[in-house]
Amino acid sequence: MTIDACKAIVGEYALHIAQVLGLGGWCLSFSYDEDGENYGTAQIAPDQQWAGINIDPDMHSNKAEVLDTILHELLHVVHAPLEQFRHQVNEHTKGAAREIFVTLGTTASEQLVAAWMVILTQILGLTPAKLARKAQ
Ligand SMILES: [Zn+2]
Repeated sequence: MTIDACKAIVGEYALHIAQVLGLGGWCLSFSYDEDGENYGTAQIAPDQQWAGINIDPDMHSNKAEVLDTILHELLHVVHAPLEQFRHQVNEHTKGAAREIFVTLGTTASEQLVAAWMVILTQILGLTPAKLARKAQ
């Protein structure tokens, strides 16, 4: 997918989805770097209520995939308290302990987001596009 096509989808849906998820007070910054490894990533600064979300256009072939990535990354932002815990662990531990805690934190974060994706989209039938419409 082209960067422009990806930007258009983000522009049309992301802030509406964020609003429905209770992230209306957050500053969300989107970028489109192509790392070829991740559909998306989220850098989260809970204290500042800021999140930088990168979406790799090259990893997406259609709108539904981009919307799923937007929702996935925004759900990481919803879990900001867990992200804050991960930041603290990263800052105050070192060596093997840090490695173990970071791995556990990353796994927990991904499992929570995956569970919420299932709850929202499969159980409740709230696709990212439907969530966005709830904000309008
Ligand atoms: Zn994730």
